[in-house]
Amino acid sequence: MTTAIEPTTVFRDLYIDGAWRPGSSGERFPVLDPADGSTVAEFAVATPEDCDAAVAAAAAALPAWSATAPRVRSEILRRAWEILTAEADVLAELMVRENGKSWADAKAEAGYATEFFRWFAEEAVRIPGDWRLSPAGDKRIVVTHRPIGVSLLITPWNFPAAMATRKLAPALAAGCTTVLKPARETPLTAAYLVDALERAGVPKGVVNLVTPVPTGPAVARMLAAEPVRKLSFTGSTEVGRELLKVCADRVVNPSMELGGNAPLIVLPGADLDQAVEGAFLAKMRNGGSACTSANRFYVHDSVHDAFVERMTARLRATKVGPGLDRGNELGALVSVGERDKVARLVDTAKAEGATIEVGGAASEHGAFYSPTLLTGVAHGSTINATEIFGPVTAVVRFTDVDDAVAQANDSEFGLIAYVFGEERAAMQVATRLDAGMVAVNRGVVSDPAAPFGGTKQSGLGREGAGEGILEFLETQYIAVTA
Ligand code: NAD
Repeated sequence: MTTAIEPTTVFRDLYIDGAWRPGSSGERFPVLDPADGSTVAEFAVATPEDCDAAVAAAAAALPAWSATAPRVRSEILRRAWEILTAEADVLAELMVRENGKSWADAKAEAGYATEFFRWFAEEAVRIPGDWRLSPAGDKRIVVTHRPIGVSLLITPWNFPAAMATRKLAPALAAGCTTVLKPARETPLTAAYLVDALERAGVPKGVVNLVTPVPTGPAVARMLAAEPVRKLSFTGSTEVGRELLKVCADRVVNPSMELGGNAPLIVLPGADLDQAVEGAFLAKMRNGGSACTSANRFYVHDSVHDAFVERMTARLRATKVGPGLDRGNELGALVSVGERDKVARLVDTAKAEGATIEVGGAASEHGAFYSPTLLTGVAHGSTINATEIFGPVTAVVRFTDVDDAVAQANDSEFGLIAYVFGEERAAMQVATRLDAGMVAVNRGVVSDPAAPFGGTKQSGLGREGAGEGILEFLETQYIAVTA
């Protein structure tokens, strides 16, 4: 295949106050290709002083950006959508290189990620307000929304483009200025997005990019800085909990998109073609490294064997290999460490009584793990209670729908659930599930126009839709004598 981009031509530096520059220590860290372990690029390490400079630049840019006409902010976001739509292949290739995902997953993410700029270009000019007479008739109640201020945006490696645009687009639409801290595994995609925003006309200081090593102390330092009023975090529940504690010190406003452990229920009477197609997408999209990935499969006794047979055949036919080979459906996991974590979980499942119907093999070279299906998994077993983050389908058999609903809800997570079945029965089950999102007879829910987020320890707040911009706005009430 032809290469759309040489990664060495993509920025590998920090972006602070409208300028690309190396970190002040001159140090760099390697960004690795998970397919073969080679170094894609050496990215700049941000020192604590670089992080301070990024926060200061965002603070200095805030008054002008928040006073910029919504239409002007909107048109900049729209231009970013146009640029990235035209350059979707470049964006996709960068993601394949540093994340390992398949070409199809990378192209799908490029489209999804870019769409947030168009959606929030449209939302920027529709920020809601209210004006009404008080019940006593003594005053006008005027309700407006103000940008919350300097926002720290922290993103994970599994969707390096979409998790960043899902925060950048609403923050900029709302009139906030930002400091973006991408995951250490995937900074090149973030740098490319920032470059696209610069080309779209984002003024200096409005978007800043830092990659501190180590991360924790630098993030705590930024959250302690007076101008920072907002933290929008996507990542693990473990880190999210710690950051909520840090936010508490200065009552920084947090939005948290955290871990999941999604149940997928196949009811009696489900259309099995639809269920297998949906289950394959829900499980294998992004190689299973998705917070939305179906993790706990509860399949009714009456359809269990047929479902397992068809799903096993589908997984056996799945082509695995480097994402740059566009024929491969499943790419690499992000690192050898992640591959080994998945392998250990499967070993534990086996020791706890599960049977491997297909897969169960880690590659010798590169971070690949074969598409796997386990039967005889018990509710509450280690693999059932853990976010797998890999291409492993762990099936629990059930006979009573009420039990399946109770087991599906028996988790500290509540991000998403999937239900397959006759529509009325599936809808009835959907309404009983404690999850921020439920997919009925389909394997994917993500849409920039829909509110994304979870209940319980899967997070706080919503991204996308109309809700997404409200996360970056403060409500202000003005009382005017009538
Ligand atoms: P992670 O929590 O390890 O890292 C996420 C981000 O936090 C990275 O940028 C990382 O550098 C940073 N970080 C790590 N330690 C930190 C610390 N002590 N202080 C401040 N920042 C720190 O998560 P990950 O492994 O990159 O991503 C996988 C997790 O993300 C999974 O649990 C997955 O479910 C979750 N996720 C959730 C959503 C969602 O929308 N709910 C979306 C994607 C991923």
